Amino acid sequence: MSPAQANPSPTTESYNVIVVGAGFAGMYMLHRLRGLGFSARVYEQGGGVGGTWYWNRYPGARCDVESMQYSYSFSEELQQEWDWSERYASQPEILKYANHVADRFDLRRDIQFNTNVERAVFDERARCWAVTTSDGTTVQAQFVVLATGCLSNARKPDIKGLDNFKGPVYHTGNWPHEDVDFTGLRVGLIGTGSSGIQSAPVIAEQAKHLTVFQRTANFSIPARNAALTGEERNTFRKNYPEIRRFAREVARNGIFAEQPDRGALDDSDDVRREKYAARWERGGLTFMYAYNNLGLALSANDTAANFVRGKIGEIVTDPETAKLLQPDNHPIGTKRICIDTDYFATFNRPNVSLVDIKSNPIQEITAHAVRVGGEDQEVDALVLATGFDAMTGSVAKIDIRGPGGQTLNRKWAEGPKTYLGLMSAGFPNLFIITGPGSPSVLSNMIVSIEQHVDWIADSLVHMRKQGLATMEADGEAEDKWVVHVNEVAHGTLYPQANSWYMGANIPGKPRIFMPYIGGVGVYRRICDEVAAKGYEGFVMEAEAQPRRLGAGGCMTPA
Ligand code: NAP
Repeated sequence: MSPAQANPSPTTESYNVIVVGAGFAGMYMLHRLRGLGFSARVYEQGGGVGGTWYWNRYPGARCDVESMQYSYSFSEELQQEWDWSERYASQPEILKYANHVADRFDLRRDIQFNTNVERAVFDERARCWAVTTSDGTTVQAQFVVLATGCLSNARKPDIKGLDNFKGPVYHTGNWPHEDVDFTGLRVGLIGTGSSGIQSAPVIAEQAKHLTVFQRTANFSIPARNAALTGEERNTFRKNYPEIRRFAREVARNGIFAEQPDRGALDDSDDVRREKYAARWERGGLTFMYAYNNLGLALSANDTAANFVRGKIGEIVTDPETAKLLQPDNHPIGTKRICIDTDYFATFNRPNVSLVDIKSNPIQEITAHAVRVGGEDQEVDALVLATGFDAMTGSVAKIDIRGPGGQTLNRKWAEGPKTYLGLMSAGFPNLFIITGPGSPSVLSNMIVSIEQHVDWIADSLVHMRKQGLATMEADGEAEDKWVVHVNEVAHGTLYPQANSWYMGANIPGKPRIFMPYIGGVGVYRRICDEVAAKGYEGFVMEAEAQPRRLGAGGCMTPA
């Protein structure tokens, strides 16, 4: 029990809404709440805004969605005035943008930094949440919004001896704020997901030697990052209304791009190869939109996977290394596809080596080495690019107790259960942004964040107008949604991979496909229809007596 729990200070403050997290979701939620006249307080564990972009400062960190699309659309002025410098924005530039948004919309005065929310307990009498933070304060709010992020709970792997290592150990998801200099050092990098694949080429340029420890080879497509020209930016800006509409309503993943109209086997081998080659040259995530059945049919998927394996074979000069780098245990795209700059070519450098830890797992980490197959790979520094307890990890860190003392962690012990990814039955007035059961990490996160924030804001306005005290997911509606999310996932190839989408990267975590794969356009329509039908599938209860929402927070009825 933390000091805050053992001795909570009496509640003195109350708000309409407490928002947990000041990443892109929390910042926009705050902006909307303020605009609607709700009082709100945001608690953020970091020392600044930006969420995942505040923590993931590793070398080479960059977004894999194009910057002109990985940006807020809620303010026309903002999207017209901000100048993205590159096709894919680097972490420092995204963080600068997040800070610009915080300043431009004067958000900081309602955000308390360096503060963890440790506990949220629903007070049945007051029909309010009592929220306890790491500074020992408890505040009340009628609503809590979890804007805790999907990839913000960096996971240190359980590798024997890791704590005995004498050199510095860095995690890509929790990188120091000061410059890290690898000059003259032998660096060991464990993990070859997006973070490892982005950081390896940059570390290799600086370090004396880089040893990459690979458990699973991953598919990666070149980013082809480049400076954006003024003309490119203007074309986007001029066409933003249509680009944003398309991303929200049509594209499955919230990204404006040409949509495929045929399956991979509808083309001849030559035509197919040409199409893949053109997309490989163009670079980026749209490689996977070459055909409309790459995520559905293994025979189609194999054609794309074989093409990429062929490219890896062409780039990497040592045939044994090339073979190890060619993914062979999951269909392409079923683990988050990576977007890189010179990742495979990095293995042609004389100062880079690859160690296969799939056939020969790491035995232990000693004071100065990583021991594999009885051999010590000596290193001076370690970089863990070992991922996150994704989607549920940051929620699970908060002790959330609904009416009757039920904890969210107990309810989710066999996997997260939500209705529309927005609420979980048994936990009134508790919203989740981009939670499990929503498109979330399978989409352009900012598109999904804006949709969720707007939907939640509309619900609060509806409740205020109708004099309603509580809103809660109905258990039956939730059960049906959970079944639907699973059915849709299992109609695709995604569950064939041991991915973090499935919780497979965390020992003991239930294997449930967490995000909703039905597409952002379809999902948005479902959410809108639910609202139009008077919030079908949600239970809303009236106030026992009037509460002045908008003027103060949560008032205990007399
Ligand atoms: P990740 O995709 O989960 O990759 C973790 C890597 O560490 C995998 O190669 C994994 O191997 C390995 N690993 C984990 N535990 C290990 C252990 N005990 N021993 C050896 N190897 C171990 O994590 P990530 O690379 O940080 O990326 C997570 C997600 O964040 C991405 O999928 C993406 O959505 C997002 N991201 C995006 C960007 C971007 O926008 N460009 C950049 C970074 C991250 P296995 O595969 O065998 O488990």
